[in-house]
Amino acid sequence: MSGTALVVGAGVTGASVARELALRGWEVTLAEQYAAGTVRSASGGDTRLLRAAHGDAEWYTHLAWRARSLWLELQEETGTRIWEPTGLAWFVRGHGDFEARSRDALEQAAIPFEWRTADDARSLFPSLAVDDLAAVLWEPEAGVLHARRATQLLVEDGERRGVRPLAERVRPADAPAADVVVWACGAWLPGFFPAEVAVRVERRDVFFFGGDASWRNAPGWVEYDAGFYGHGDVGGLGVKVAPDFPSDEVDPDTVERLALAERREAARAYATRRFPELASAPLLGSRVCQYDLTSDTHFVLGRHPEHDAWWLVGGGSGHGFKHGPALGEYVADCVEGRRDPEPFHALGARSGNARLRTAA
Ligand SMILES: Cc1cc2nc3c(=O)[nH]c(=O)nc-3n(C[C@H](O)[C@H](O)[C@H](O)COP(=O)(O)OP(=O)(O)OC[C@H]3O[C@@H](n4cnc5c(N)ncnc54)[C@H](O)[C@@H]3O)c2cc1C
Repeated sequence: MSGTALVVGAGVTGASVARELALRGWEVTLAEQYAAGTVRSASGGDTRLLRAAHGDAEWYTHLAWRARSLWLELQEETGTRIWEPTGLAWFVRGHGDFEARSRDALEQAAIPFEWRTADDARSLFPSLAVDDLAAVLWEPEAGVLHARRATQLLVEDGERRGVRPLAERVRPADAPAADVVVWACGAWLPGFFPAEVAVRVERRDVFFFGGDASWRNAPGWVEYDAGFYGHGDVGGLGVKVAPDFPSDEVDPDTVERLALAERREAARAYATRRFPELASAPLLGSRVCQYDLTSDTHFVLGRHPEHDAWWLVGGGSGHGFKHGPALGEYVADCVEGRRDPEPFHALGARSGNARLRTAA
């Protein structure tokens, strides 16, 4: 099956879908209202973690692992560096249910991991306080993607393969004419389709602290129970420390992207506690971005109930970036009728535990 496709939104999702459809012989237009990789988009962040651990949600473990191969292929084919092979440590506190379920899923999928004692994990970082850690789940093949660069690379590579760019905000009321329209609008999706997409848009603030040279390409890390994650100094940005705390809803067009003082202090306090050497590290920068959250943190993918040719995709829920090119394959398969969307991605109301992103 092929024909004409309009993909709305050139974040990682739309760029991946557009490129994948073009590779399969579709005549594709990719619309973007600002610029591909705009810092207003979630995909326009400097870096994003790629990890295969997703608790017992094995579907995402497999998707992340497939995506990792596709990202590496894209890097290889284009000669553009988008991947840093840092590895990633999950700091286990208390019962460590999430990490234990992740370990079992990784084992099942034959994805490399190590279950280290806290003491043994000390050597992974230039400084690491382990007194309150029960263990560390180490994913040696995980890493960090240069997100904005990777998004723009997907768009450029898509264009090389025939994708036509369209600099325009496309609205449902425009009744766009194409055999298939894929609405991959990130945080803008619920505004266009409030009845179909149960997504809440919240802000997240990210901070970069100035460590010394020993922090260069230090691993990624997630402390799920504390709601913090980050990575070493990748690309000269500094050591990333990100609180994954809830917020009020925000408008992705108008939110002022200045970090909040209380979040900055929370990030500094966390860095001081977990990585004592960073206690006096200066703040080098910050970013404000938005999550498009479903209540169960599963993605959204489905056909619009009234417009058969329209597909809605989104709900990245703070963990969507890594999956980009593999998500592109999945969406293209559904569009072509090769498979059905997973029931846990269905449009409409959601309920359940938010257990797939970095915060409990
Ligand atoms: C602070 C932060 C940290 C994160 N960390 C990670 C992480 O470590 N690992 C991970 O995997 N994920 C992470 N995520 C989540 C990940 O970044 C997102 O899930 C992913 O980037 C979403 O991509 P998207 O293409 O769906 O949406 P977006 O990136 O928001 O892209 C949507 C695009 O569509 C455009 N658009 C919208 N409406 C229209 C329209 N009507 N017409 C034309 N264009 C339109 C927008 O301008 C935008 O460019 C993080 C997110 C944030 C905010």
